[in-house]
Amino acid sequence: MRIVALAGGIGGARFLRGLREAIGPEDEITVIGNTGDDIHLYGLKVCPDLDTVMYTLGGGIHEEQGWGRADETWSIKAEMKEYGVGPEWFGLGDRDFATHLVRSQMLTAGYTLSQVTEALCVRWQPGVRLLPMSDDRVETHVRITDEAGTRAVHFQEYWVRLHAAVDAEAIIPVGADTAKPAPGVLEAIAAADVILFPPSNPVVSIGTILAVPGIRAAIAAASAPVVGLSPIIGGAPVRGMADKVLAAVGVEATAEAVALDYGGRAALRSSTGEDGGGRREGLLDGWLVDTADEAAVAAVEAGGIACRAVPLLMTDVAATAEMARAALALAEQVRA
Ligand code: GDP
Ligand code: CA
Repeated sequence: MRIVALAGGIGGARFLRGLREAIGPEDEITVIGNTGDDIHLYGLKVCPDLDTVMYTLGGGIHEEQGWGRADETWSIKAEMKEYGVGPEWFGLGDRDFATHLVRSQMLTAGYTLSQVTEALCVRWQPGVRLLPMSDDRVETHVRITDEAGTRAVHFQEYWVRLHAAVDAEAIIPVGADTAKPAPGVLEAIAAADVILFPPSNPVVSIGTILAVPGIRAAIAAASAPVVGLSPIIGGAPVRGMADKVLAAVGVEATAEAVALDYGGRAALRSSTGEDGGGRREGLLDGWLVDTADEAAVAAVEAGGIACRAVPLLMTDVAATAEMARAALALAEQVRA
């Protein structure tokens, strides 16, 4: 079985660790990773979501934190501070720096981000094929208004420095409109037997991947069933700022609203078989909500998406593997 999963950082990475447990030795996972969180710091290219997936699956993640390296030290950051060079709000540890140095050195030498990611994975052996969504530069910006006025800030500044304390007014994946899917991305989607949306952020993780021209249409047209898992439980994100960025795109922070915003593929197939007259293609065949959101099942199914309520808290790898099995089982049920 060829499984394709879209992934952001923590939510995606933790789910993938469970998925890897849940599959057989012959099955293959291709991960299409979000690069809209990427940021250039100190002349280095930092890819937080790709690295979170790579470190989590490769056994190098700081478990409690969910990002960055285990057993990290902070000498470089302290030295930079002595020089008065920031930003102080972004945490790059010494071990993590090495990853960004290798990546930046290879990019400067002319390798693509896909090639660099593959090279970094030789060390980490994540057990999945990790593809960036695009080799082109995409950076998510957030429009905010505060005492400094209305302006766009980098997504990292919104989340890490401002802690998403101000409302997000708009989410702009800068560069996405002209980005091309990375080599292998569209091919993997077309060849997939199952496509999964882990419980990653629907706007700034999955949404950014879908904003790369061609990816959304490829998923809508794929022969494989598409099943997603809700990152929203009981009307709130399990962690992070999904509620803030969902509000910015006019979607309620509920398990059903997120599913209906992705849209059901069935409704579209049964209408025209085309793109429904210019409206956004629906993506989902199936959706898992947490048992706390049992009441959402009917509304999701009314939207043409098969829906089941199962425990969706990734408390450990075993519980997460159960979630992955439920997603794969639902994919089999909806397979046309
Ligand atoms: P990020 O890039 O690090 O923000 O990570 P992702 O976009 O991949 O995932 C973030 C999402 O994961 C958030 O919206 C959380 O609500 C969701 N999440 C985190 N832990 C869990 C969990 O245990 N269960 C579920 N269902 N969602 C979770
Ligand atoms: Ca992220």
